[in-house]
Amino acid sequence: MRFKARLLMLFCLLISSSFLISGCQATLINVLSLDTTQVSTQSNTTYDNVVDGLLNTTNEQGLEVHYMILPTNHKKVGYEMSKPTYIVVHNTANTAPAVNEVKYLNSKSNTSYTSFHFAVDEVNVYQAVNMKYNAWHAGENKMNKQSIGVEIAKSMISDTKIKDKAINNGAKLVAMLMKEYDIPIERVITHQAVTGKHCPHDILDRYGYDNFLNLVRSYLK
Ligand SMILES: [Zn+2]
Repeated sequence: MRFKARLLMLFCLLISSSFLISGCQATLINVLSLDTTQVSTQSNTTYDNVVDGLLNTTNEQGLEVHYMILPTNHKKVGYEMSKPTYIVVHNTANTAPAVNEVKYLNSKSNTSYTSFHFAVDEVNVYQAVNMKYNAWHAGENKMNKQSIGVEIAKSMISDTKIKDKAINNGAKLVAMLMKEYDIPIERVITHQAVTGKHCPHDILDRYGYDNFLNLVRSYLK
């Protein structure tokens, strides 16, 4: 878009006829304003009424929540979801912090449809998809359309203390979501339970999924 805008600008400069210039300027303004719109929606640092006010920076669990919500017309945002009935737990299977996971969703080099609602690490929670829409994370259409996708980040780092902190924040987040959407613990499931994929790998291999669910229960009280 910027390249096109530059071309138009050059075109305007080359053509000196006044009536043509005015037409060019109108086109140029359109192009530039469209460009600005796209930039602002892609950076989307704020989003009003996110998850109907559930996740805010003064939430009861003390999680620091950031919103980097994809525009609803983004290909990674799915269909409208009236009320989520499951929570699907994932590990990112890499070393990146949660913020990078969310940034990657908006990266031009990322051509897949895969997405998630939340990414959490040892410090922060990032929300990427509005809860009113489904994300593409569970590998199965029916489950995607009725579940919240939670990615627990940094699952491939060697520092187990940091990984455990990320898991702890993930458990807090899941407990908050369960309360908000009235989702029972039986419906907090692994990605593995949906498709058989070995995910969340670090919780399955090391931490233990039952231990994770017990942690979630401790935050429900
Ligand atoms: Zn997964």
